[in-house]
Parts: sequence; C-alpha cells; structure tokens
Amino acid sequence: MKHGFRTAPWELRWDTLDLDALERTESIFALSNGHIGMRGTLEEGEPRVLPGTYLNGFYEQHPLPYAEAGYGYPEDGQTIVNVTDGKIIRLLVQDEPLDMRYGRAVEHHRVLDFRSGTLRRDTVWESPTGRRVRVRTERLVSFTQRAVAAIRYEVEPLDGGIQLVLQSDLLANEPVESATKDPRVGAALDAPLVAEDATGGELYAVLMHRTRRSNLRVAAAMNHEIQADDGLQCDMHIEDDLARLTAAVDVPSGSRLVVTKYIGYGWSSRRSAPALRSQVSAAMAGAKQTGWQGLLDEQRAYLDDFWATADVEIDGDDELQQAVRFALFHVLQAGSRGESRAIPAKGLTGPGYDGHSFWDSETFVLPVLTYTVPEAARDALRWRHATLPAARERAAALGLRGAAFPWRSIDGAECSAYWPAGTGAFHVSADVSDAVARYLAATDDDDFEREHATEILVETARLWSSLGHHDVHGGFRIDGVTGPDEYSAVVDNNVYTNLMAQRNLLEAAAVCERQPDAASSLGVTADELAAWREAAAKMVLPFDRMLGVHPQSERFTEHARWDFEGTPASNYPLLLHYPYFDLYRKQVVKQADLVMAMYLRGDAFTAEQKVRNVDYYEPLTVRDSSLSACVQAVMAAEVGYLDLAYDYFAEAALTDLHDLHANVRNGLHIASLAGAWMVAVAGFGGMRDHNRSLTFAPRLPAALTRVAFRLTYQDSRFAVEIDQDGASYTLLDGPSLTVRHHGEAVELTKGAAERRTIPSLEPRKAPGQPKGREPRRRTPKFADRD
Ligand code: BGC
Repeated sequence: MKHGFRTAPWELRWDTLDLDALERTESIFALSNGHIGMRGTLEEGEPRVLPGTYLNGFYEQHPLPYAEAGYGYPEDGQTIVNVTDGKIIRLLVQDEPLDMRYGRAVEHHRVLDFRSGTLRRDTVWESPTGRRVRVRTERLVSFTQRAVAAIRYEVEPLDGGIQLVLQSDLLANEPVESATKDPRVGAALDAPLVAEDATGGELYAVLMHRTRRSNLRVAAAMNHEIQADDGLQCDMHIEDDLARLTAAVDVPSGSRLVVTKYIGYGWSSRRSAPALRSQVSAAMAGAKQTGWQGLLDEQRAYLDDFWATADVEIDGDDELQQAVRFALFHVLQAGSRGESRAIPAKGLTGPGYDGHSFWDSETFVLPVLTYTVPEAARDALRWRHATLPAARERAAALGLRGAAFPWRSIDGAECSAYWPAGTGAFHVSADVSDAVARYLAATDDDDFEREHATEILVETARLWSSLGHHDVHGGFRIDGVTGPDEYSAVVDNNVYTNLMAQRNLLEAAAVCERQPDAASSLGVTADELAAWREAAAKMVLPFDRMLGVHPQSERFTEHARWDFEGTPASNYPLLLHYPYFDLYRKQVVKQADLVMAMYLRGDAFTAEQKVRNVDYYEPLTVRDSSLSACVQAVMAAEVGYLDLAYDYFAEAALTDLHDLHANVRNGLHIASLAGAWMVAVAGFGGMRDHNRSLTFAPRLPAALTRVAFRLTYQDSRFAVEIDQDGASYTLLDGPSLTVRHHGEAVELTKGAAERRTIPSLEPRKAPGQPKGREPRRRTPKFADRD
C-alpha cells in the first residue's frame, strides 16, 4: 500500500489518518461536476491545507505585476476564487469538538468510489476524555443536477447515549494561504467576496456575495433534513459571511443522528441578486424533492452510462488499472457539466495555475471526451467560441488578423504576464482548431459546424495567414513563436506549430466549402481560401539533412547541448534552478514538442523519420512538465519501444497518486490524467484520427496481458480488445463502420467481433534519457493487492 492508497479496481481507498497527507488527499479526493468543485477536506473543516470550493468561471481580477511593462502586455490577471464553503459540518461530542488532531482515530477510512461518484468516510473517533463515536459521511457533487452538492452525515455513539451538537455552515471569505508573493494579487484575493444579502429559515439559508473587481455575483444555499430522536433543538444563525445551523440532540445508545445537507450554487455576471437567489432556491427545492437516495441513484446511473462508453481495462497491472479509472473519473469530473465554460488545467480540484485553462484542454482532455462524452467536448469548444470577441481583440492588439486565443485564461482574455511562454505560444489557436476538426470528424455535428466551428476555423486561419509570410523562395514561414517546449522560446518555424497551422488552414478551407453560407457571412472570399491552401502547401518544415532528423525549430540541432551530466537530480525542474536565457539557447527539451507533432500530425512524417526523431529527442527531453510522459509513451509505442512506453504510461497515470511533481496540493494534473487514456488508446491501441479516418495499430508491452477500451464514433459505439497476439473490434451499437488495423481495412458490423493478428515487430534498443531523468521502471505491483 505504498503512497497510502489500497489497490482496488473501482475505488480509491485510504485506510489511515496521516494528517500530513491531507495536502495530497484534498486534491485527490476532490469532487466536481465541471461546474462545482469541492476539495476533499474533512467535514469538520480543520485540520486542512486548502479548503477550496470553486465554481467554474468564477474569478477575481487583479493587476498583473510587471517590473517593466511593454506594449501589448495584458493588464489584468484572473484568479479562481474560493467561494462560500458549504462542506463544513462540525460535531461536538458531549461538548468536545471532533478534531482528528486530538483524541484518537480508532479507525479512519476514506473511499472515492468511481461508480457511485461519491466520497465516503468512516471514522471511529475517541475523544480526549474517552468517548467514542462512529461518523459516517458520504458526499457528492451531482452530475445530474449541476447546481447541487449533498452530504449525508451520520453519527452513532459507541459508548452509551450522549449529547451531540452539530454545526452545519455556509462560510464565505475563509482565510486561505495565498499562493502568490505579489502583495497586489494577494490583496485582491484576501476576503474577495463582498456580502450582498443573507436570508434563511429554520433549516435553510442563502448567502449572496459579489467580487469587487470582476463584478461577479455568487449565491450559495444550504438546506437540511435531520433524523433524530425526540428533543432535537435547531437554531439557524445568519450573518454576512456565515450561516450556521446548530442542531443539538441527546442520542441514546443504539440510535443515530442522521443529517442530509443539500448545498446549491449559482453565479452570474448579469443576473440580479433576487434572480440568482431564486435560482439557487429552486435548485435546492429540486434536490430535496429528489432526496438523498434519489441523488445517489441518479449519480450511479450517470456513471454506469459513462463507464459503459468510456471504461479502459488493463490486465496485468492492478495499480495501473485503478489509476486509469481514477484518471477517467477525474477527467469526467473536470469536463462533464462545465457547459460552455473552460476546462481548467487543474479541473476544479485546487487553485493551481490560478484556475486557468490552457491548451491542455483541447489537446489532452478533449480527445478523451470527444470519443467518450462528445457533448462535453462540444460544450468546451462552445466556450472557446464564446471567447472569440476577446481573441479577435487580442489579435488586433498584436497587429494581426483573425483571432488569437489566450495562452491562459478563465474568461477568454489573455492572462499570461510572460510573453515568451504566453502570447508567444500561438500554437494554442491551432490546438483549438484541431480539437474542433477532431470533434467534427467524430460526430458529424452539422449544427455545431455551421454555428460555431466555421467561425473558429476561419478566424484562426486568418491569424496564421497574417502571422506567417511567404519568403523569397515562396515558402510559408511562421517566425518568432513558441512551441510546446517551454525551454525554447520565440523561435522560427517550430515544426509543431507549422504543422498544426497547416492543418488549421486546410480544415478552414474545407469547412468553408461545406458551409458556404456561414463562410460568406464571415466575409470569406475565394481568394482567401486559395491563399490558405497556398500557405498550407508551402509551409516550411525545417529538416536537418546531416542528422536526418527534424530540428524542433530552425537551427535547434545546432545549439549547444545542455550539460546533462553536470546537472544534479536536485536541480530539476530546470526552470527553478537556471535562467531561461540559458535554457533557451541550448538543446534541452522541457516537454514533447517535435515528438508531439509526430503524434498529432503523424501523417506528415515517414516511419523512418519517426524512429530517428524519437531517438534524437529522447536523450534531450527532461519531462519538467507533466504533459510530456503521455506523448512520449504514444510515440515510443508507435516506433516499437513498448516497455519504455509502459514506463511512461505509469508516470502519466500515477502523476497525482504518487505526487510525482510534488505539487498535487494545488490540484490535479488533468492533462496528464487524460494522458493515461491517451496512452492506452493511442499508444497501445495505436489509434490515430488523421484526415477523417480512424486507424489502429495495437501492440502491448510484455507486462500487460490485455488492454480493452470503448469508443464512440459518429453514431456508433465499438469496443477494442487487445492481447499479446491480436486485437478484436466489436460494434456495440449504431451503424456499421470501417476502421483500419495495422493498415488493413476492417468493417465492423453488428454482432460479429472482428479479430486480427498483430504483425511482428523487429526488436530495437530504446534510446536513453538525460541522466537522472529516466522514467521509473515499472513492474506490476501484485503485492499491493488486498
Ligand atoms: C506546461 C504547459 C502547460 C501548463 C499547464 C506548463 O508547465 O509547460 O504546456 O500548458 O503547464 O499545464
């Protein structure tokens, strides 16, 4: 049971108290539906590291700190706000507060259940004076009623009858340790909520607040059902920042106090206080009418559906099986009910990255959602569409046409104060377009194509055509941009960026032909289409003929190599120990960049180039970003380094469970979790979706006996099951479909599994990594089994 979790296929179980681990478990046990996020704090509120209740899109604005400002620098930053906390339920056991730092935890178990979608706790606590109670709690953030969360809180006295006093809170402006050293930002986030209104009744209360600068309004509500013996006394106390229900009762031996707390949230930039209050009150009424059992049943049904379409089975490594389901569960939590809001890099599990969304969403998370919960992918892309005005404004401020999507943001405005790795990373606009094109190919969603996709593709194509230029030889160059690897910046002709821009330009031209009305309303002309196609055809892709590899950007392979031998392991991540100036001028790669291009634009490379490039970049890539391991795994698998791919698979899937980047306290790495799916499906399944066709090239590492997954594609759902010798493809429902297996067309029709053998592979020795940065070797941990 290394790392504290017991290995089990459908749950994550924690069986000790270990308060030092709270900073990890608060993130890992977080619950969310993409709209509301609640960290996995203990109900009694303390001890805790970061309380954390978040609403997707709800942020405070603050000035961005610059030592030296420059033209075109974004002025305002945005930071996700810890909103009114409704998770708190305190207990006094015969006047002693239940606090896990005192007394004794006779038993303490916590379970995140991937099928019920709840977090359960079972604690037997002995107070300092020797009274024992059993506290069982279960909480959920509802997937079906997106404004609602609920907690079931049950106390049973174990040493005869006692008096219990329970306090259930809504608490605004909880003191939170500031993540920033900048006093201006700290000040904006210290008590960020201004009270507007507080109302309530015997068992319910609503608190209304708004932020000072971003002017967003939030309503939080709670309501209760209490089952107790006679003599229950309840009192509701309401102030600006606190609503507290106090319930006191004598609980005889053999009896229990059971409280159900319904919590509701709503926020808006436009709605009036009365309108928002009515909205949360209505959500509460709905939740109460459904009832606790009803909410549990709905949650279960929602997840049954999800697992029926999205489950990934891994045979041969129990810990990874658990980790992959944990990953999928959190990806679903991050993206399911966001509904036209962004998917932040940390989901709603912590304040890391200020709650911003990055390219992580389109490039890592949306592929999973596109093939499992396509509506969620569509909604996230609608958010991008809704931010087009801000992206156009940004492009105009930069002297460019079309739309430049922000590197990091909550509401669509660029929030990166660091140009080279912020605005310079123009590839984000092509990443958005790529996700749009993938979604269209996978769904044939004509409405989305007409109403949203065309505009995104056109405006981003316009960006590329104004950002690049034809040189004297006619080649189309894109200079002065930053690719995915943040240890290089402001470079010319980054292969990843150019290839993604190329696809963007071609997809834009194609969509305009499919949607002529939408295109003409955007003022697209035949000349413009021709210019996009010309730019795509002439896109410059640097190639080092002497080495036979692609430099990730022009001249990269001529730079001095980083002194890996002289870099101690304690100096990673490099960005915290060396100046960017030095990183930028050396061959050292933070995260897959050229290798990423070979995954997403595999159609632009030969098989031989792929091997040579993987061999060249592996020894340069330090994986200082959690976005790297999964991509390296996919390409390692494609070129035949299956055991290396397996090691990276484990790294991606266990990033948070093993806290590999030592920062899980700030939230989970959602892209890396999505990357676990990516490795199973695109790595070991070899799935690619270039040019509107779905191809597979399955192959397993020696340690795994079977990998199985399910995908939704257009109107069909099918299963892929891979073992060491072959793979079976089974259509589960929908019309028949043709896919490819190692190049061979396979027609999937209802009722018959199509089995194909896996061609043999010539063994080849995998390249090494920079000293001290090798992935941990993975051996299945059967010893961990219950
Ligand atoms: C990575 C970026 C990523 C961001 C958020 C950075 O460390 O280099 O690629 O988008 O983290 O996850």
